[in-house]
Amino acid sequence: MIYMLEDEEGIRNFVIYALKSSGFDARGFEAPSALYEAVNEELPELLLLDRMLPDEDGLEVLKKLRSDPRTRKLPVIMLTAKGTEQDKVEGLDSGADDYIAKPFGAMELISRIKALLRRTADSHADTDRLSLGGISVYPSKHEVFAGSEKVNLTLKEYDLLLMLMRNRGQVFSRDSLLREIWGYDFAGESRTVDVHIRTLRQKLGDCGELIETIRGVGYKAGDGSLD
Ligand code: CA
Repeated sequence: MIYMLEDEEGIRNFVIYALKSSGFDARGFEAPSALYEAVNEELPELLLLDRMLPDEDGLEVLKKLRSDPRTRKLPVIMLTAKGTEQDKVEGLDSGADDYIAKPFGAMELISRIKALLRRTADSHADTDRLSLGGISVYPSKHEVFAGSEKVNLTLKEYDLLLMLMRNRGQVFSRDSLLREIWGYDFAGESRTVDVHIRTLRQKLGDCGELIETIRGVGYKAGDGSLD
């Protein structure tokens, strides 16, 4: 859902039509009060905000949105007729994520919206990342990288790595890893764990040493910098 706050009906209708034609759900608002009400009901994915409004300047609206924790990170593209450098700087300084000068074409607008939504999605994906030294794991995508190299792990190797990285510094015995990952409720072949740790380390290359062996006990994920 994309919201637009714009007092000029012609521009509002043009943009809402362009958004809907591109497959977006969109709602337009003439006055800030109607926008605030709608935001309270449903948070949009992105807001197109006109700079010049009769009752309240677009910059004021943006400041209000940025001071509310719920809308602090709402992606905002500011629209303005004043395409001067000064306006652009003011808009970006006040917390807009992007800026488009009027008049603009529908294609440019849509591509800027898509770019901003992509950036927003990337920054969310980034928080869903576990890292340890040069190792990065993206649980939502089931991807592992050693440095910039993508590493292909078996399911058990992946589960082992995730378990160790999620509990960084904690030492796991072979038996507890067997139980947690293989689901054995008895003391199984603890060599199974050793074999998987060995192939995991090999696949991680130089980063493999971050999976530490604790003599006589088991394994842990360390930061590799202390010893
Ligand atoms: Ca206006």
